[in-house]
Amino acid sequence: MKAVRVLGPSQLVLDEVPAPIPGSGDVLVRIAAVGICQTDIEIVSGVHGWITDGQSRYPLVPGHEWSGYVEALGAEVSHLALGDLVVGETGIGCGQCRWCRTGHYNVCPDVTEAGILGRDGALREYHVQPARFVHRFPLGDPDTAALVEPATVAVYACQRGAVSPLDRVAVVGCGSIGLLCVQAARAFGARFVLAVSRSEYKLRLAETLGADRAVSSAAVNIGEVAQEMTGGDAFDVVIEAGGNAEAFNDAVQLCGRLGRLVVVGYASPEAYGYSLQTIIDREQTLVGVRGSPNVYPQTIDLMAAGRIRVEPLISARFTLGEYARAFELAVSRKPDVLKVLVKP
Ligand SMILES: [Zn+2]
Ligand SMILES: [Zn+2]
Repeated sequence: MKAVRVLGPSQLVLDEVPAPIPGSGDVLVRIAAVGICQTDIEIVSGVHGWITDGQSRYPLVPGHEWSGYVEALGAEVSHLALGDLVVGETGIGCGQCRWCRTGHYNVCPDVTEAGILGRDGALREYHVQPARFVHRFPLGDPDTAALVEPATVAVYACQRGAVSPLDRVAVVGCGSIGLLCVQAARAFGARFVLAVSRSEYKLRLAETLGADRAVSSAAVNIGEVAQEMTGGDAFDVVIEAGGNAEAFNDAVQLCGRLGRLVVVGYASPEAYGYSLQTIIDREQTLVGVRGSPNVYPQTIDLMAAGRIRVEPLISARFTLGEYARAFELAVSRKPDVLKVLVKP
């Protein structure tokens, strides 16, 4: 079969490799669509923190946002059938340690992450994964299904931030994850949702997808905006989905007294050189979000109910043979490019 492999920093190739063989608890999936995300870009270019600190090693097949059809099942797998459209979780725990046994398999000390850490991802014709981390997707469209993974991250971020109808929520950074967080915050009942971005295109999209207000961090004083929109209280929950020091700084300013500051996904390795005084003065709680354990069924239900829409995030589609063009477009950071899909 064909597989896209990263052999070293910026060394991306399409290789002919043997198809993986499923074990008794595994599913073999014929991949239909794979989303390219910032994490993939950082892994391919070699600047991802887990590449630079040696935790993750090349060669590696990238791709953790995927959908596909069940091609073969291990003997012990009973919750799936041949031909099912399925999606898979990224973080795969050992199943034995105290973290796995209490449901926190995303922080298992021996966790592997498909396409990221110690396990090949899905940018290939066939992908294999333990069946307990594979879920049926009942809505029929494989492109939509490929974006279940980023949607689960948004749902988990809102869960970690305990978003409730009492809360005013601000989302800083309106890439795919940020736009999904806007929708997830709405679905969790937030009474007011603010979207912050530097891109006018993304701000308009945030409004279309349910933000009450969308403001450019380049054009306004973010601290003043927070006061003015909330009657002086600032925001109860701020989800930082920008992954850089500037977004974090904006998030702290937007976050009110006793507010929850939720930091999602990838943080670029630049120094955060920031005084913690606001966090202390306002007794803010800083919450990290790693992956998306235990939220796949709930996220798929929210998508089925139309509460989380992923189609507006799809900017372009490429074949596996066009992988280089797909990455070029994803890396381009054009303001109107959100999710690029590769369809093996
Ligand atoms: Zn991703
Ligand atoms: Zn474990």
